[in-house]
Amino acid sequence: MAEIRPQPGIMDIALYQGGQSHLDGVADVVKLSSNENPFGPSDKAKEAFVRSGHQLHRYPSTDHAGLRAAIGEVHGVNPDQVICGVGSDEIITFLCQAYAGPGDEVIHTEHGFSMYRISTLAAGATPIEVPERERVVDVDAILAACNFRTKLVFIANPANPTGTMIGGNELARLADGLPKQAILVLDGAYAEYVEEYDGGKALVDARENVFMTRTFSKIYGLGGLRVGWGYGPKEIVDVLNRVRGPFNLSQTQLETAEAAVRDMDYTERCRTENTRLRAWLAEALAEAGVPSDTSTANFILARFTSPDEAEACDEWLKSKGIIVRRVAGYKLPNCLRITVGDEASCRRVAHAVRAFKESV
Ligand SMILES: *Cc1c(COP(=O)(O)O)cnc(C)c1O
Repeated sequence: MAEIRPQPGIMDIALYQGGQSHLDGVADVVKLSSNENPFGPSDKAKEAFVRSGHQLHRYPSTDHAGLRAAIGEVHGVNPDQVICGVGSDEIITFLCQAYAGPGDEVIHTEHGFSMYRISTLAAGATPIEVPERERVVDVDAILAACNFRTKLVFIANPANPTGTMIGGNELARLADGLPKQAILVLDGAYAEYVEEYDGGKALVDARENVFMTRTFSKIYGLGGLRVGWGYGPKEIVDVLNRVRGPFNLSQTQLETAEAAVRDMDYTERCRTENTRLRAWLAEALAEAGVPSDTSTANFILARFTSPDEAEACDEWLKSKGIIVRRVAGYKLPNCLRITVGDEASCRRVAHAVRAFKESV
């Protein structure tokens, strides 16, 4: 066995920790730990899912033309520049696999999403962590960390788990300042939650070094289906399609996602409800003595006075059947990330946090 060894970097990968979903001995659990849409998928998506079952003996489309066309219409992008994957996680994997290898560097930020580091190590490249400024991506710090080995720079905008975002001018400044061989990847997993934000589409269209990833796991309520997509320059999409398996998505995934993206009324309702409840929850927590940065996503990063207090509140919430996310692994030990649920869940978590603060 001593001679059988994985590629360098693989054993440095810490296993991804998903949001907890069960509490032993507690019925009536409310799960606010994975940024899922509390209203689930649209009825049209569910109907498409059931309908697709009749064709399960058929191999799926390999070019995803139907889904790419729908994405093109709804998001105003050229379908020829769209690639679909098993969640946006797979698009991130393709980018690392295709553009980064041993000796190359991939930049992510201090509190950045953990998949960037995992996919970088899996590709044999070196992850470089760059500091943020008060839980906000710092463009100058990223530019200072770039060199001739930098191949990819990952930014989630809005970011997870901070919920903060940077503006269009900052994004453009970052894209313009990168070394020539580097690609800026804008992860738009939460872009639909931001009014009037294109997720970086205009920047992709205006530059040759910007790529955008999107997902069906958040506002579309399809985290369990596993579909995401990427949009970028034709040359990059062409490269990624070479490493993509021909049948990476089932017909069920393709048709369900297509119905979901076309149901724009439903998406709009989810966005409006999230905006309303997020503001309510942030204010309720602030009144209870738990501040948070202004969130642009479907969760709030609640800040406690110490790591101990955050942990104690997490335990308190669990005892009340409420699961939120500890984010110590994201270098935010005094914070808890709380997904904006439906109204009843928001009231329940706000009530419990207030009771916790009164108890300490
Ligand atoms: C949830 C999330 C994703 C989505 O991943 P999928 O593989 O599409 O489910 C991507 N990026 C960030 C920052 C996220 O929080």
